[in-house]
Amino acid sequence: DLLVVGSANADLVIGVERRPAAGETVLGTDLVTSPGGKGANQAAAAARLGARTGLLARVGDDAHGRMLREAQREAGTDTSTLLVGGAPTGVALITVDPAGDNSIVVSPGANARLTPEDVAAAEASLAAAAVVSLQLEIPLETVAAVARAASGTGTRVVLNPSPPAPLPDDVLAAADPLVVNEHEARYLLDDGAGSDDGGDGDDAPERWAAALLERGPRSVVITLGAAGALVAERAPDGPVRTVRVASPAVRAVDTTGAGDAFTGALGWRLGRGSGLEEAVRFAVRVGAAAVTRAGAQESYPNAQELEKEFPA
Ligand code: ADP
Repeated sequence: DLLVVGSANADLVIGVERRPAAGETVLGTDLVTSPGGKGANQAAAAARLGARTGLLARVGDDAHGRMLREAQREAGTDTSTLLVGGAPTGVALITVDPAGDNSIVVSPGANARLTPEDVAAAEASLAAAAVVSLQLEIPLETVAAVARAASGTGTRVVLNPSPPAPLPDDVLAAADPLVVNEHEARYLLDDGAGSDDGGDGDDAPERWAAALLERGPRSVVITLGAAGALVAERAPDGPVRTVRVASPAVRAVDTTGAGDAFTGALGWRLGRGSGLEEAVRFAVRVGAAAVTRAGAQESYPNAQELEKEFPA
C-alpha cells in the first residue's frame, strides 16, 4: 500500500530542564538510544497500524543500522529495500524539555548516500505502491527522482518538506498532499519568491494553505500541533476548500515523531482509498496517540490501541 523513501537515524535522546545557550553546559537525564529518522518513523507508524509498508532507506554497517532494521522488522515493515553501507548510520541528537517539546541536530551519515540509482533499482517497489511518502532528510536529487518516477507509475506522492529546503517546481507539483507544520509552511512561503505569507491571526493557516496551493501542489495539509490539522484542496477550476480537523485533547508527554506518525498514517489511509479529509481525521488520532508516550517509534500505537484509546 505504502512505500516510504527517506531517512533512518539512531535517535540519541536526553531530557533537559532547559536548553543550553551557546557556551553553556546543562545536565540531562540518562541517554536513551532509539530508532528514528523521518522515513523510518513514518514506515514504522504505518506498519504498526497494519499497513503493508516498505522502506527505501540506507543505514551504515554498524550497531545503529542493525537496531533500525530490527525495529522495522518488529513493526512489520518490508525491509527488502533497506540498504546498507557507504557511511555510518545517521544520528539525531535530541533534547526534550519538560513541556515535551524537542530540539534536534541531525548527522545524515548513510542517509546522504541514498542515491537516484538506489531509486532506479527499487522501481518495482515504487510501481507496486499506491502511495509513496517523501521527506527531505535524504538528498534532494533522490527525492526528485522518486517524484519523477512516481508520476510515471501513477503512484500518489505525499511530501513532507522537512527539514525545510527550497523545492524544485516539479517536486512541489507532484505533492498530493504537501504536508507541513506551521514552521515549514512559513519557511516555504518566505523563500524569497515574493509571496506574502498572510502574517498572523486566527485564519493564518487558511491563508498559508491557499498561498501554498498557488505553488503547485494538488493539495495541502498543515499540521497545527494540539489544534490538529488543516486540509486544503482546490476544486478543478474552482475555489480553495479548507477544513479544520481537531486533534483529540491529550496530555503531551513527548512530541518527538508525532508529525511522522501523522504522515505515515495519512499516507497509508490515502493508499487504501480514503479521501484526504477522512485520511486526516484518522491521522490526527495517530498523531495524538504518539505524543502521549515517550520516544518516536516506541510511542506509536497499533490498531487495537488506537481504537481503544482514541476511538473515531
Ligand atoms: P510536527 O511534529 O511535525 O511539528 P505537529 O506538532 O503539528 O507536527 O504535530 C503533528 C500532529 O500530531 C498534529 O496534527 C496532531 O494530530 C498531533 N499532535 C501534536 N501535538 C499534539 C498535542 N499536544 N495534542 C494532541 N495532538 C497533538
